[in-house]
Amino acid sequence: MQRASVDDSASDDDLDAERTRLSDHLATTDVAVNHYRIAPGDGFPGGLHAHADQEEVFVVLAGEATFEVYGTDADDATAGDGRTVTVRSGEAIRFARDEFRSGRNDADRDLVAIAVGAPPDSEDVRVPLSCPACGHAGVRPTWTEDGVELVCPDCAAAHTPQACPGCGREEMHVGLGERCRPVAVCPDCGTEVADPLCR
Ligand SMILES: [Zn+2]
Ligand SMILES: [Zn+2]
Repeated sequence: MQRASVDDSASDDDLDAERTRLSDHLATTDVAVNHYRIAPGDGFPGGLHAHADQEEVFVVLAGEATFEVYGTDADDATAGDGRTVTVRSGEAIRFARDEFRSGRNDADRDLVAIAVGAPPDSEDVRVPLSCPACGHAGVRPTWTEDGVELVCPDCAAAHTPQACPGCGREEMHVGLGERCRPVAVCPDCGTEVADPLCR
């Protein structure tokens, strides 16, 4: 048996969010458990993404989480278009493998949430951009010494995304643009690029 306390455990400080990796402190083997405290205006790490190899559940303990979701529900006539879902204190939301999501705190008080993922390590993250070489929907961000490349899981072509045309930041996030379709969004200056893989 292992016990851990969020208050007594070190949290990652390289993120907008305050993340405590409870599963590290508990030495879990089959599940990842992260505790998040996210200030108003900040978000969970990463932009719109899915895990092809991991199921994830978020339980909101305080405040509310606003998730952008995209093309995630086969029973939903609007699948293929993005939308926004608000998850309040006491509620939980589950994302199956391959469901695109991005979460943030749009409210005016701290968001506190637990994220549970299984299996614990995700090696296969996807973002909802199409491969310019073969048209496959969904490419895999891969971090190299030179920065991020987006690799097509179908044809294996590697694409280097544009840097932000507004401020030059190398790594943009994927988010939902005005028409609820995925675009690249700069986390620093907010510039949107519709086709970040086309140069
Ligand atoms: Zn391809
Ligand atoms: Zn920028």
